Amino acid sequence: MKKHNFYAGPSILSQYTIQNTADAIINFADMGLSILEISHRSKQFQAVMDEATALVKELLEVPEGYSVLFLGGGASLQFCMVPFNMLETKAAYLNTGVWSTKAIKEAKIFGEVVEVASSKDRNFNYIPKDFTVPQDVDYFHYTTNNTIYGTEIRKDPDAGNVRLIADMSSDIFSRQIDVSKYDIIYAGAQKNLAPAGVTIAIVRDDALGHVTRPIPTMLDYRTHVKKGSMFNTPPVLPIFSALQTLKYYKQLGGIKEIEKVDLAKAAKLYETIDSSRMFVATVPDHADRSIMNVCFVMKPEYAELEKDFIDFATTKGIVGIKGHRDVGGFRASLYNALPMESVDALVACMKEFQSNH
Ligand SMILES: *Cc1c(COP(=O)(O)O)cnc(C)c1O
Repeated sequence: MKKHNFYAGPSILSQYTIQNTADAIINFADMGLSILEISHRSKQFQAVMDEATALVKELLEVPEGYSVLFLGGGASLQFCMVPFNMLETKAAYLNTGVWSTKAIKEAKIFGEVVEVASSKDRNFNYIPKDFTVPQDVDYFHYTTNNTIYGTEIRKDPDAGNVRLIADMSSDIFSRQIDVSKYDIIYAGAQKNLAPAGVTIAIVRDDALGHVTRPIPTMLDYRTHVKKGSMFNTPPVLPIFSALQTLKYYKQLGGIKEIEKVDLAKAAKLYETIDSSRMFVATVPDHADRSIMNVCFVMKPEYAELEKDFIDFATTKGIVGIKGHRDVGGFRASLYNALPMESVDALVACMKEFQSNH
């Protein structure tokens, strides 16, 4: 049976990415060797790194003066690398969920943290609007898409003249962004790009080198800028897979075209939820709703049917829709590689289940 993969992360990848990765594990670049057993310094792998870097720049229209890095350690290591490299005295953070909270915890190791606003009072089911970013901070950090709660900030917040840093782990490549507004953008690969193991960081070169503390070599962005992400052995296979996804995105027509489809997928599912008597979206304000992670629950009078719905969906090949334990209910992740056909399957499944009860 065809599977409809709604997992939140690691999550669905394009068949193009998976097939080409499988092929390269057997025979990479006609070397007669697996990509798993060759030097990262070979000219064949250097070509992969160069092309992946160029395609990130092309797809996201990264301006001059920025470096694209492929790092290890996940987005979670960026929670610490960002303040290590950027926080001299004080930084501002917007708290919109678990990932923001974790980023704030790390920043506090390095200096003072001003939490400009938080949506914790309502279990992070909205985006705080009324906040001002103090202008005496080293940077302002926020999470663009809150994977767990299904909220998303699709418009760049106004940070005045303060450096802007964003965790875009779960919505990078799903919408057009103006990179020039940012000093650092980072994203773990396993939501919209590649298997787990590599993290993209896009850094403004002249934003680095302004803190006075010594930085361990591996945690210093400048090391990786200088060595083109080859200071040490990079995560070779995830980078190869990332390149396949980037090529696939380019074939689709780039981010603009991808964004149109992503918006249409999310609109279809939210409409189904909003017009249903059984389901309700956990994020009430439409403007705050994530295009990538659609969170919904059973209305109280149907709450006991939650498990039955997941079981019913499983019989239709629908997997990965159980909500995060902090929210409950259901979460359908609609990452770029998920086809409209899978959204249609979920919508049909919800309607059929509803008419059965
Ligand atoms: C998944 C996720 C993370 C954590 O990524 P790791 O690579 O597991 O460290 C951080 N931020 C956001 C927004 C995420 O979705």
